[in-house]
Amino acid sequence: MSSLTHAVLYDNLIDENLIKNIEEIAKDTALLHGVLMRTKETPNSPEVVSYAPFTLFPTPVPTALFHQALAVQTHFNRLVDRVSQNPAFLEETLASTIKVDNFTARLFNIYKQVQEEHRPQSIVLGLNRSDYMLDHSPDGGTSLKQIEINTIAASFGGLASRTPDVHRHILKVANLPEESNNVLDNNPAAGLARGLAKAWELYGSERAVVMFLVEDVQRNIYDHRFVENELWKRNIPVIRRQFEDVCRSGSLDESRRLFVDGHEIAIVYFRNGYMPQNYTSEESWEARLMMERSLAVKCPDISTHLAGTKKVQQELAQRGVLERFFPDEPETVAQIRATFAGLYTLDMGEEGDKTVAMALANPDQYVLKPQREGGGNNIYGTEICEVLENLKSSTERTAYILMDKIQPVPVQNYLLRPGAPLKLNSCLSELGVFGAYVRKGKDMVFNECVGHLLRTKSSEHADGGVAAGVAVLDNPLLV
Ligand code: ADP
Ligand code: MG
Ligand code: MG
Repeated sequence: MSSLTHAVLYDNLIDENLIKNIEEIAKDTALLHGVLMRTKETPNSPEVVSYAPFTLFPTPVPTALFHQALAVQTHFNRLVDRVSQNPAFLEETLASTIKVDNFTARLFNIYKQVQEEHRPQSIVLGLNRSDYMLDHSPDGGTSLKQIEINTIAASFGGLASRTPDVHRHILKVANLPEESNNVLDNNPAAGLARGLAKAWELYGSERAVVMFLVEDVQRNIYDHRFVENELWKRNIPVIRRQFEDVCRSGSLDESRRLFVDGHEIAIVYFRNGYMPQNYTSEESWEARLMMERSLAVKCPDISTHLAGTKKVQQELAQRGVLERFFPDEPETVAQIRATFAGLYTLDMGEEGDKTVAMALANPDQYVLKPQREGGGNNIYGTEICEVLENLKSSTERTAYILMDKIQPVPVQNYLLRPGAPLKLNSCLSELGVFGAYVRKGKDMVFNECVGHLLRTKSSEHADGGVAAGVAVLDNPLLV
């Protein structure tokens, strides 16, 4: 066990000369290891790149909680899959949401359309990331609490595969060589690629390609490339395309094989399509429907996408609901439930009224969440009161769910960002765990926890991820 405590880490942090020296080494090392992003100015060119933002030091995470998060991941994989396979549950759970949330309604429409058809493809590929914070209770205990599970476009598995070497090197330069042993190896890029490769093999055509469906702004392309290159190593061809490419040249043949620019598509890997703004035209929606109807394996398929909504998360936390998905596995239920924070419905009726009253009485204890992804959408503090005072008698409130606010203990660290001066910050971290699974018909043929991600942000920001420019990449330092 390491001798590194918060206090020791802090002692090193405040020696300014040492920090100045390490800052440059840290940035160079990130560049050497490929922890890269394209610049805001030239997101679609590799001519000028920079390091992806990261913390100078890894953040202490209790070993037991870290392992708890890894151990529950294959259960979350199965839970997501089972939810996605339960039309009655999805329909009932999302019924109130889709009446008022147009984006979820449009996704749900696609779901209904393909439900009514014969589905040509029985292979399902799920690549998700379950995110947690460590909740510090007033009695001094710390527990692992799930923030959400991302079932579409979960990012940073690529870059997270390269950050451990960077932090280990920094610790050595900072004269903390033993601590560097407490930064674990991590390779979600390889694990995500194993899932993709398994699904590609099952699709069964050597010529068929994996299509990464990507945004037009490609700042985070190196994160994708790590996964992509793992596939090429296995001689699995990869192409990158955007919605508009699929609109322009996508088609289905008589057996509903998907072709884009003349390539048969074995897998559509969505790294886009999770926000309303990603659908810039009606044609984008038509393209999503066409891909969904096709023989290609969708990662995720529309039902798995819906299984990742915050409304579904809230419903799963209701009493007795997990038991419906794991009727013979009380231990699985207990393991999953142990990670749930309080989640509350805002559906019309007595329960929802109670939630409104609770939130209005203590807004600082909650987070109000719409059905959105990508960071920066949640509502906190007094703004919760403003929103709920306005919406409390309207069905519009059912677009949201309410969640207990997790209260982690802030840790001091430096955040390294291109162009920004170095500053000691009080920081909060979020641990992500990557899951990958492949099902063929009724058989789960692959189900793994494939790595982790730690993201850290200054505690002055309530919300927002790395892509949103708020959080930075980090590593757990097991203590
Ligand atoms: P998104 O899908 O947009 O990432 P999240 O549910 O992950 O939505 O919320 C975004 C961010 O808001 C999280 O990364 C976290 O920093 C913060 N957050 C979300 N839920 C909570 C919570 N219950 N307690 C504290 N912070 C939260
Ligand atoms: Mg999300
Ligand atoms: Mg999130």
